[in-house]
Amino acid sequence: EIQLAQRVIALTPSTTLAITAKAKELKSQGHDVIGLGAGEPDFNTPQHIIDAAVQSMNEGHTKYTPSAGLPALKKEIAAKFKKDQGLDYDPSEIIVTSGAKHGLYTLFQVLLNEGDEVIIPIPYWVSYPEQVKLAGGVPVYAVGKEENEYKITPEQLSESITDRTKAVIINSPSNPTGMLYSADELKALGDVCLNHNVLIISDEIYEKLVYGGHKHTSIAELSPELKEQTIIINGVSKSHSMTGWRIGYAAGNKEIIKAMTNLASHSTSNPTTTAQYGSIAAYAGPQDMLAEMREAFEHRLNIIYDKLIKIPGFTCVKPQGAFYLFPNVQKAAEQTGFENVDDFAKALLEEAMVAVIPGSGFGSPENIRLSYATSLDLLEKAVERMHSFVEKNM
Ligand code: PLP
Repeated sequence: EIQLAQRVIALTPSTTLAITAKAKELKSQGHDVIGLGAGEPDFNTPQHIIDAAVQSMNEGHTKYTPSAGLPALKKEIAAKFKKDQGLDYDPSEIIVTSGAKHGLYTLFQVLLNEGDEVIIPIPYWVSYPEQVKLAGGVPVYAVGKEENEYKITPEQLSESITDRTKAVIINSPSNPTGMLYSADELKALGDVCLNHNVLIISDEIYEKLVYGGHKHTSIAELSPELKEQTIIINGVSKSHSMTGWRIGYAAGNKEIIKAMTNLASHSTSNPTTTAQYGSIAAYAGPQDMLAEMREAFEHRLNIIYDKLIKIPGFTCVKPQGAFYLFPNVQKAAEQTGFENVDDFAKALLEEAMVAVIPGSGFGSPENIRLSYATSLDLLEKAVERMHSFVEKNM
């Protein structure tokens, strides 16, 4: 029998993958399952990005790049920060990573010693706690309450800080809730971090997907002190519909970026060269596709949200960004005779043929997550199915 390392035995399997596997199985048996589990935009990568990547290969750019990424790409990323946030980053303060996910992974690896604490607001993106634990760190949770739009308050942040606290993660817009922190809210959280010398990890991967006239603010743009205190994580996956290209980046303190680069040099060597060339085009080329995608998501959100909250026992804070809805369905689960929302979600899949992700995987067991990165037709059908399922079983 193979003895695996303790660190992987302790990993929590992804609930997302379990549901997706079950949905696939039902589909292969001929069932008409609608999957609302997707974590990626349902648009193609813009053609000019693909063309640039192909051209780079034909021109012979098929070798290693510097571990922190191509200088030309870092230049475009720096220009993007300047244009969108008014932030100045030197190339030595930027590392290109194999997706935002690997940027975060590398960051935790270089920051955390055994027992160091990272404050993670609930509901959280599933990988944060696992990545912190893989680096020997300890996740400390602060619960963003439904009545506060699932966001944490400065008081909650203060109360979570101990002498082992190294960092706090802010993910705005949030996966799974779609909520956005305002500039004032970020300022208040930032003040707490400055007072206690807690690093801020700002995951801004959904930056470009904001709705209802809301504006994304990066905590790093609020003052030079906050910029110093913050590592921004971002990437092209969601903004340019490039999830499979695996290009993300981190920007912040030079020492941290240098350590991350050193670690990357021994793990990935560099993010895929071709994907880096495509990403240069993503930032240097036309951006109109971003607006089109954003508008399509907002249109779907507005239509689906209104129908979703009419389902008996569903309540939902209206998302301001990303492409997820995160209704609280505890009442609906109880009224239809289910022990918990996990079982309710399982029945939605097996009986209503709609695949949603149970909130338990995000630390929020009363909710389910629905992605609207699928066609409006399917979304409407899925919500109708859920509605009938609840009414029939009440
Ligand atoms: N951060 C959040 C909050 C996400 O939802 C995701 C993707 O689902 C990522 C980071 C990772 O992005 P990437 O595909 O660039 O690794």
